[in-house]
Amino acid sequence: MATPDLLIVGSGLFGLTIAERAANEHGLSVTIIDRRDHLGGNAYSERDPETGIEVHKYGAHLFHTSNQRVWEYVNRFTSFTGYQHKVYTTHRGVVYPMPINLGTINQFFQAAHTPDEARALIAEQAGELAGADPENLNDKGISLIGRPLYEAFIKHYTGKQWQTDPKDLPASIISRLPVRYTYDNRYFNDTYEGLPTDGYTAWLERMADHPRIEVRLSTDFFDTTQELNRDAVRGQIPVVYTGPVDRYFDYSEGTLGWRTIDLETEHLSTGDFQGTSVMNYADADVPYTRIIEPRHFHPERDYPTDRTVIQREYSRFAESGDEPYYPINSGKDRETLLKYRAKAENEPRTLFGGRLGTYQYLDMHMAIGSALSMADNKLADLLRG
Ligand code: FAD
Ligand code: UDP
Repeated sequence: MATPDLLIVGSGLFGLTIAERAANEHGLSVTIIDRRDHLGGNAYSERDPETGIEVHKYGAHLFHTSNQRVWEYVNRFTSFTGYQHKVYTTHRGVVYPMPINLGTINQFFQAAHTPDEARALIAEQAGELAGADPENLNDKGISLIGRPLYEAFIKHYTGKQWQTDPKDLPASIISRLPVRYTYDNRYFNDTYEGLPTDGYTAWLERMADHPRIEVRLSTDFFDTTQELNRDAVRGQIPVVYTGPVDRYFDYSEGTLGWRTIDLETEHLSTGDFQGTSVMNYADADVPYTRIIEPRHFHPERDYPTDRTVIQREYSRFAESGDEPYYPINSGKDRETLLKYRAKAENEPRTLFGGRLGTYQYLDMHMAIGSALSMADNKLADLLRG
């Protein structure tokens, strides 16, 4: 078989974007390998065979971006529905809107505060940490919303999600979550948002649909019995590698820590289990973090009215053999990562990208944006050798 101009390891959004740009913009022949039996990485979804409902196999994926270039780029492959993500949370048997907004605050305190009154109330409750610049998630949470709201909605949910005392987690995790003094309960603040009209898989397959792109599934880069394996191609042909960076170097500097999730799927004989796509569970006595009901991602579709599918999501530390999902990024992880980065810099003819290759949490639009920059800049140097 002819050797490709470029080998891409991993068919997630990072690898697919590089492949599409390399074939269309640079005129290269590209081979993408993926060890899974489907392309698309973690954004992959499939139709549930019993109900026809589109289910996100690796956890709920909501597309949102404020990056104009990324938005125009993705619209070449798919249109998007007008879906706007909204999340609710259950605390002590009562449902509240998330992220914390005026609706949450008034319902929690059984009040009718105006925005100014609510601000004053939260400022007073956060007063115990006034003026501090908290570094850990516990103190940051209290300084943002005061102790009562923090203990109801954040403390136990975060404990379940990270299996770590919030005092030992970085404040940055909670900074992602806005607090609003209006009744706006949209989850994301981005300019563009929606779900791919024909589903994720149709979108992802269109990105690879090019005569110069070959996709080889169920093909592991480290399997020396397949021809395009690491030992055979290292330094020989240009490679963009989007698998785990520690695995590439045989874990020589130690392993990087990841969190994974387990999804427990159940079919139910009702047309609607929870009335919304995502319900968080804020309390410690419920073992899962949230329940996803995928039918609500596509209210425009003609799904069965007497059956539904739900996924209960549990979070835990990843062990060897688990899917690595969220980088833990402890102090030790950051030290280890620096050593791998130095090795990656010196790796001849290989570029490292994507979530696993850079050990970074990347939303889809970030993975696409960084792949577009790599295709603009570093790819030409890589090809020159
Ligand atoms: P991936 O999609 O992980 O692709 C990497 C690919 O490399 C995989 O297919 C893997 O099989 C392959 N691979 C690894 N090792 C090898 C090997 N040795 N040989 C061959 N192939 C290999 N983003 C959002 O924007 N919105 C969301 O709502 C959202 N929700 C998420 C929920 C969860 C649970 C997770 C885990 C992520 C979520 N994301 C979300 C992030 C999104 O999944 C990523 O941005 C995107 O998957 C990044 O693409 P990637 O190509 O870097 O990595
Ligand atoms: N969070 C929380 N309660 C919630 C939702 C979020 O405490 O109901 C916290 C939690 O620490 C989480 C962080 O806010 O890790 C960021 O939330 P996001 O929904 O972005 O988390 P993701 O599911 O993407 O990790």
